[in-house]
Amino acid sequence: MSTSAERREQLKAVYAEARGCTRCPELARTRTQVVFGSGNADADLMFVGEAPGAREDEQGIPFVGAAGKLLDELLGELGLARSDVFINNVLNCRPPGNRDPLPAEIENCQSYLMRRIELIEPRVICTLGNFATKLLRADPTGISRLHGRAEIRVIGNCALRLYPLFHPAAALYTRSLLDTLRADFAQIPALLELALPEQPELPEPPEPAVPEPEIASEPEPEPIVPPPASQLGLF
Ligand code: URA
Repeated sequence: MSTSAERREQLKAVYAEARGCTRCPELARTRTQVVFGSGNADADLMFVGEAPGAREDEQGIPFVGAAGKLLDELLGELGLARSDVFINNVLNCRPPGNRDPLPAEIENCQSYLMRRIELIEPRVICTLGNFATKLLRADPTGISRLHGRAEIRVIGNCALRLYPLFHPAAALYTRSLLDTLRADFAQIPALLELALPEQPELPEPPEPAVPEPEIASEPEPEPIVPPPASQLGLF
């Protein structure tokens, strides 16, 4: 179990790695910057959206455009601020022209999301829209059938409540979806109050290996470039 300060440092290390990511050559070439996620590294509540859009790509922070304003408003109605939650996406990089994420891109980026979940250990993850819901449920069932129904899932090392919601961008243009999203949001405080689900047993860590005597010198590992100061405030 890490302390708060340790998990923040670990999160920063994953961010430093993600900043230089080139797993998706097209996204690495076309992005302004990686949008890793922002908010509280100790949050009980995490939101997972789809991918950064133009505004997010410019500012390096998820959900700062029109859909983000709605997300802020809905959080505000629950008495929550961004600093109470952690917000991130399935993809860390903006798909050009805001096209849908490709399956290979989702796969390439999955380990970053999993590491954020494992480090933050939220009690509740709200998946926003189809991409996050299908990825974290590992099932193709769509959001229209699943929204507003929490289920216990083991993700990474954590048993938590997964709570699918319509994506705020969809609710911006359809009144009935907005009403549904607001009603689903209203259930979040009660979900946060529920007892933590029983956690999976973790395998015993392997015995530390006896170090081999050094034979030839290994090449120096690439240094991890620390994130810029402006981004360190993200978590
Ligand atoms: N839509 C998303 O899914 N994520 C963002 O960060 C912004 C808009």
